Amino acid sequence: LKTLDITAVRNDFPILNEVVNGKPLVYLDNAATTQKPKQVLDALAGYYGHYNANIHRGIHHLAEKATAAFEDSRKAMQQFVNASSSDEIIFTYGTTDSINLVAQTFGRSFLGKGDEIIISTLEHHSNIVPWQMLCEEKGCILKVIPVNEEGELDMAAYQQMLSENTKLVSVVHVSNALGTINPIKQIIDQAHTVGAKVLIDGAQACSHLEIDVQALDCDFYAFSMHKIYGPTGIGALYGKRSLLEAMPPYRGGGEMIKEVTFEKTTYNELPYKFEAGTPNIADAVASKFALDYVNQLGKEHIAAYENELLAYATQAMADIPGLRIVGQAKQKVSVLSFVMDGIHHQDIGVLLDQQGIAIRTGHHCTQPLMQRFGLSGTSRASFAVYNTIEEIDALISGLHKVKRMLG
Ligand code: PMP
Repeated sequence: LKTLDITAVRNDFPILNEVVNGKPLVYLDNAATTQKPKQVLDALAGYYGHYNANIHRGIHHLAEKATAAFEDSRKAMQQFVNASSSDEIIFTYGTTDSINLVAQTFGRSFLGKGDEIIISTLEHHSNIVPWQMLCEEKGCILKVIPVNEEGELDMAAYQQMLSENTKLVSVVHVSNALGTINPIKQIIDQAHTVGAKVLIDGAQACSHLEIDVQALDCDFYAFSMHKIYGPTGIGALYGKRSLLEAMPPYRGGGEMIKEVTFEKTTYNELPYKFEAGTPNIADAVASKFALDYVNQLGKEHIAAYENELLAYATQAMADIPGLRIVGQAKQKVSVLSFVMDGIHHQDIGVLLDQQGIAIRTGHHCTQPLMQRFGLSGTSRASFAVYNTIEEIDALISGLHKVKRMLG
C-alpha cells in the first residue's frame, strides 16, 4: 500500500483552513457530509463560467459541451460501482431520492397485499419511511432484522425471516450511526434464493469501500455524491436493466418522454425515463471530478489510512473513564459513536464546537436503532481521508475537557 501524502490532500480542501471560535477547524462530521476538494469547486465554477447550458436538446456549442460532460459523469458513476452499462445509472438527488424512486415505481407496481419487505435495525430513516408509506398504501408487511450488542446484524434471524412472501430486502451497506459494515453479499445471495429483490443503501459505503454491483449481484444500489467529496443534491440509483425496463416512470415531464400527444404519451429509454425535467446539471458534471479525485488517491489507500485513524481514536477513547463506544462491530468503517456517563450528547457537541471541533450529536436519523440501545442519541466522530492523528488528539483532549467541566 502506498502512503498518502495527507498534507497534500489537506491542501486540496480550502475549507480546512477555516478558523472556528478562534481555533483551527477540526472537521469530524464526515458521515453527515464530506468536504469538497478544489478540483470539485473548480469544476462547478468552470461549468457555470464557461459552458452552462441545458442538456440533450440543444444543438449549439455550449449545449453539446454540457451534455457531453453530464454524460461523462454518468459513465464515471457507472465505473465507480462497476455497473455493466451507463443506462443502469439513474441520476437522482441522492440516496433518499433513489430509495423513494424504487418504492414509488418497483414497489407500487410489483408489491401487493401480504408481500413482505425486510429491512434492518441499522437503517437510516430514509430506508424505513418510504417502505412504511408503501406498506400503508399496498398492505405489505415490514420485517426488521435485529442487531446484537456490537451493532452487527443477526444473520440467523434474517435467514428465518426469508420466505416465499419476501419480495424485497432493503439494507444499509454501512451504518451511518455505528459504522458497521454489513455482510451484504450474503444478504443478497440469501434473498435471491427465495426470489426477493435487494436494494442496498450505499450512502456511507461509497467513500470507504470498493463497490462492484455486478459481483454483489444486487438489484439496486443507492448513493449520494455529497458523502464522496462531491456536491450536494446529486446521487444515483443503480438498477439492473431488466428491472428498470419493467418499472414505470413516476415523475412526468420533459426529458422522460419519447412522444407526447393529448391522446397518448410514450416514454423515453433508460436512463432518461426516470429523469423528468432539467436535472442538476452542474452538480452532476462536478461529480466526475469528485470520483476522479477518489480514484486517484485509491480507495484501498483511503480505507487503510482511515482505519489507522479509527484504531488510534478507538484506543484513545478507551482511556477516557466513563466513555463508552456504541457499536463495536468486527467489520466497521471510520465512524465512532459514543456516550459519556452523566453528560448529554448535545452538551458534548456544543463544548467541542467551542474548541473548533465539529462532530454530530443526536439520533443520526436512526431513531429505532437508538431505541434498540436504550439511548436518545450519541456523539459521533467520523473520519475522512484529510483527517489527522493531531486532529484526533484535539478531539481526545477536548473530551477530557468536557469531562472536567461536566463529568
Ligand atoms: N442512508 C444512510 C446510511 C445515510 O447515512 C444517509 C445520509 N445521512 C442517507 C441514507 C440519506 O442520504 P441523503 O440525505 O444524501 O439522501
